[in-house]
Amino acid sequence: MLLIANYEGRSGVPTAVELLKANTNGLRAVIEGIKIVEDDINIHSVGQSSWPNILGELQLDAAVMDGNTRRTGAVGALRGYQHPVEVAYEVMLRLDHELLVGEGAERFAEEIGASKNKNETDYSIQSWKKHLESILTEEQRKLFPNINLMEIKTIARDPEKSFDTTVYLSMDHTGRLSSATSTSGWPWKYPGRLGDSPIIGAGSYADSRYGACACTGVGEMTIRAGTARIVVLYLKMGYGLKDAVLEAAKDLAGLRTGFIGEVTIHAINFTGEYFVLGVNSSRPIKYLIWKDSMPSPDIRDAEIYETK
Ligand code: ASP
Repeated sequence: MLLIANYEGRSGVPTAVELLKANTNGLRAVIEGIKIVEDDINIHSVGQSSWPNILGELQLDAAVMDGNTRRTGAVGALRGYQHPVEVAYEVMLRLDHELLVGEGAERFAEEIGASKNKNETDYSIQSWKKHLESILTEEQRKLFPNINLMEIKTIARDPEKSFDTTVYLSMDHTGRLSSATSTSGWPWKYPGRLGDSPIIGAGSYADSRYGACACTGVGEMTIRAGTARIVVLYLKMGYGLKDAVLEAAKDLAGLRTGFIGEVTIHAINFTGEYFVLGVNSSRPIKYLIWKDSMPSPDIRDAEIYETK
């Protein structure tokens, strides 16, 4: 058994580990871990009290994947629900679709009786207002929100410089590999913007026959490179875990235009190996690892790969 979570997901790790130890289905274990992170108001990139879009609204994204069935469930730009990751799981269970966004996702959440929540807090709204104050001209301030948002979208950056998301990967007692993600995406993003977290194959992928992968960082890059899927494909092609991740990092390094920045790749394989690589990371990247040979989860530093 094995669990990997990024540092932003730390508050949910003890619960996920306990569930794995109790032989719970590994996908449920990672979902229960992520729900704790979604409720954690000290984590500002996931769930409640996270960063709003440029209009001051929280639009949340999440995805899950069961590596045995390769069924997935995902939601994008979901407003007003406490646990996007649970809604994503229900998409997988109850629909023949894999991804719902916006009003459709909200309608589905309502139909299944998902728990509602006002995820915006004073803290997230005040941070957004402060940001607007610092970027709008006098003229734009008067007209807001009836201004051209394209003109201000390029300065969307995390005020804490701790851009993130939460990602979890697990192998349960049956060998099932699972992945799950949850995020508010980039702070002050253009309304409706989806990053990689709800896009299976970009932000996450799991196939119990080979491995699983999940990414954080600039989702625009991993969408273009299909990073999570390609890591698992490289594993299928016979690459070792580290080489598979490095090869995917090289694919990212080839991107020259568009939104270029940092990406962290988390990966496990079906034999229980794990590897986390920070691509062009400007700060040390930490993650949590637990294996059934370890009494409790450990915090480790990712390797860093410079492409320039
Ligand atoms: N990957 C996320 C996104 O693009 C953000 C992050 O992990 O920092 O929405």
